[in-house]
Amino acid sequence: MENVDLLAIAAHPDDVELTSAGTLMKMIDAGYSAGILDLTEGEMGTRGTPEVRAGEAEAARRVIGARFRAGLDLGDARLTASVENRMAVARAIRKTRPRTVILPYWEGRHPDHYTAATVGYEACYAAGLKKADLDGAPHRPHTILYSTMYHDAPPSFAVDITPYFERKLEAIRCFESQFGGDMSEVVAVYPAWARLVDRIRTQCRFYGHQIGVEYAEPYAVRETLAIDDVVDMKSPSI
Ligand SMILES: [Zn+2]
Repeated sequence: MENVDLLAIAAHPDDVELTSAGTLMKMIDAGYSAGILDLTEGEMGTRGTPEVRAGEAEAARRVIGARFRAGLDLGDARLTASVENRMAVARAIRKTRPRTVILPYWEGRHPDHYTAATVGYEACYAAGLKKADLDGAPHRPHTILYSTMYHDAPPSFAVDITPYFERKLEAIRCFESQFGGDMSEVVAVYPAWARLVDRIRTQCRFYGHQIGVEYAEPYAVRETLAIDDVVDMKSPSI
């Protein structure tokens, strides 16, 4: 791990690719540095061993161009918002000192996703506490974005990722164990899985059209966004 401008935190390897890879690529092209922190190793996934998924995750990191990808192994399908987990993530925040953090949305189908939002937020707060039992200087990110890709929640804004969409798919396809081959075993438990990549494509198109471009990734923020120029707004109203 090293200092980055933007840190994407997610529950499972492949979440960042599905939800926010295009945004990371765009920010990296703009000159910012980015890192990825997976809170679990995805070991409860129906297919793929942790070793296989680690190789896939590294390949996807290279496609995205992130400086690093780290995993905390906090327990797939049993991630809890414990103080221990909060401090483990806070340690990573202090090591990487991001200005902006991307988290999953705070509601959702998979408990790990909404729990990651809680753990991530509380870690961002704890990392700034001078007296916290953590190495390194206190640091608190300036901005926290919540990806709404997995949940039907109204986003606060969307990022145009049109030039990056094909590379986003390339990053997703690195996870061959999750999205390739015979899906019957997975689909028996979770029918929507087989359509997941297609759903991501549809979501990106939907939010892209909402802002007048081809593909976009949606985010929510809890604060009111400040706008300086109300004459030169990018999103059309009519
Ligand atoms: Zn996930």
